[in-house]
Amino acid sequence: TVRQPDIELDEPFYTTCQEPKVDAKRENAALVMLARNKELAKALKTVQSIERHFNRWFKYPIVFMNDEPWSEEFITTMNASTSGEARFEVIPREEWTFPEWMDVEATKESIAAQGRAGILYAGMETYHHMCRFYSGTFYNLKALQQYKWYWRIEPDVDFYCAITYDPFVEMAKHEKVYGFTISLPEEPRTCPTLFREMSDWKEEHDIRTTELWKAMVAPSWAPWPLRGWLSWFSQRDRHGDGWSMCHYWSNFEIANLEFFRGRAYQDMYKHLESTGKFYTERWGDAAVHSIALAMLLESEKVHHFEDFGYRHDWYYQCPANAPGGQLPGSEALRENQSLEPERAGGIGCRCECDGSRTRNYGGYCLNKLKQPNTSKRLSAWQWFLSW
Ligand code: GDP
Ligand code: MN
Repeated sequence: TVRQPDIELDEPFYTTCQEPKVDAKRENAALVMLARNKELAKALKTVQSIERHFNRWFKYPIVFMNDEPWSEEFITTMNASTSGEARFEVIPREEWTFPEWMDVEATKESIAAQGRAGILYAGMETYHHMCRFYSGTFYNLKALQQYKWYWRIEPDVDFYCAITYDPFVEMAKHEKVYGFTISLPEEPRTCPTLFREMSDWKEEHDIRTTELWKAMVAPSWAPWPLRGWLSWFSQRDRHGDGWSMCHYWSNFEIANLEFFRGRAYQDMYKHLESTGKFYTERWGDAAVHSIALAMLLESEKVHHFEDFGYRHDWYYQCPANAPGGQLPGSEALRENQSLEPERAGGIGCRCECDGSRTRNYGGYCLNKLKQPNTSKRLSAWQWFLSW
């Protein structure tokens, strides 16, 4: 197959503050959050942050999902804190347990062994259920069937900048499928055979190699240090090409549900599911989503929300503010005094973080995953120095 020569570059949808179009048509979309009752305080923090920086203007519904019944307190608190509709869904039991064909005792023993080996979160049975849920059954939940788009949020995240446009509308307008903020290398011990399983599936189904796949996979002829790095982790396909371990961090995602409900993704998921390795390894949904996107999408369908200030755990992205973001008389400005000064070339809007710092693996994973749709790509030498 032939590539068109001029690839569309992935640029921010807007680089200045907008007056939020509160009366404009919305997309068929929901914010979604999986959480436990005991995470109420952290979940509330997230909801307050996204409400203040975005949803008070756009009023999208928030769908809360739990594997257990919601507490009265959680429901009351969230109902009082959301500007759109809040929905409280309980995930069906059969979606939050081992597949019926698996030997439960043996699987539990495998999980315990992964825990003893010190693999990140791998000793927790519920963490495996969660990763499997977000990899597959999430997309077929009855509660989400009515929506076309989702924006995933999690307890304990911060949004730092005002989001004054509707990202769902822009994603639809630009025919994007998947949007992310942060990209990271995966912990290799969680998924020793994931890349091999997925690349085998790709070949069995004669899926042609996309530019995105090439960007994520370092060929066997890659020069040191790339090759040294890859063979150290030895995540290779049957030809010796290796996965860079880079993935989109899935606690933030804005994406089109139809892609994930579609035949190709679901078929691929069923293959992964049939291996049992969501349990006997600790495959993360972020890695599964990312490799699937690289396999099934053209790179211009993926969007980096580099204008969003975002934090989860100790990783964050903080854009510098664009000049001219102080809308006179805007309600947002009066309440929301920015900490971050305006800068030439800045793209954020009223950010409350330090725009000279970011922990987003810009030098390596972001650089790789934005290929080939960026003009800001670092040279091999620049990324080496940025480590
Ligand atoms: P991390 O981001 O990889 O450290 O994982 P988290 O512990 O933050 O879990 C990811 C998401 O799944 C968060 O939204 C959690 O609230 C949610 N989650 C994880 N385990 C469970 C669980 O057992 N039950 C429910 N209801 N939610 C869970
Ligand atoms: Mn988390």
